[in-house]
Amino acid sequence: MLKLENIKTYYGNIQALKGVDIHIGEGEIITLIGANGAGKTTTLMSISGIIPPRSGKIKFLDNDITNRAPNHIVSMGISHVPEGRHIFPELTVRENLDMGAFLRKDKKNIQKDLKYVMDLFPILKKRSRQAGGTLSGGEQQMLAISRALMGRPRLLLLDEPSLGLAPIIVQKIFEIIKEINSVNKTTIFLVEQNANQALKIADRGYVMENGQITLSDTSESLLANDEVKNAYLGG
Ligand code: ATP
Repeated sequence: MLKLENIKTYYGNIQALKGVDIHIGEGEIITLIGANGAGKTTTLMSISGIIPPRSGKIKFLDNDITNRAPNHIVSMGISHVPEGRHIFPELTVRENLDMGAFLRKDKKNIQKDLKYVMDLFPILKKRSRQAGGTLSGGEQQMLAISRALMGRPRLLLLDEPSLGLAPIIVQKIFEIIKEINSVNKTTIFLVEQNANQALKIADRGYVMENGQITLSDTSESLLANDEVKNAYLGG
């Protein structure tokens, strides 16, 4: 479904990605783990066109999407939930969700998808008239994921969805990610510092260090790998 070939991305003179190769099959949950500053966020931003790569190729469903504009990439079926959520704090929950459907052409299915996300996160239904900025961190994360789902993505890019949330909420978010994949068949690319939880729900994982992929395997093998255990799973 998605293929990154030798992606090199820069911030001015700083090279953040040094030739990244990743492939994601339709229906998979793939996780990208690594330390702070390894280049995980930059990888997602390169895919969604926010920081276009300087060289390499990104293919989505056999279309070359390298250097396409972010709105074009969204309309092709890739939604990105950025780190820090970035919901619209002044807009209500419902208005935030409507914004997620803004680029859709099949307007008649929007109501059905509103119901789908509110069934997924019933708290959003309860809070639908409240301003997004008044929600708790966990609720804002739920809103950010739901807003992305309102674009009916084929591929959902999630950047650190568990960051800064209480353990019980983290658990809930991971369960829902798994459900979005299994019930709605949405393919998921999950960037996480919480490697343990991420590998538990993912089919396969990639490990990134210093702008390069250093390891790629099934989640099961990565969870059992001593180097991964020592570096990312707390020994
Ligand atoms: P984190 O978990 O901290 O978000 P990450 O693995 O997502 O880390 P990136 O944010 O992709 O890493 O950063 C990769 C590299 O690019 C780092 O060396 C970082 O300092 C650098 N970098 C990121 N954003 C910028 C920027 N706006 N300007 C300059 N350098 C940047």
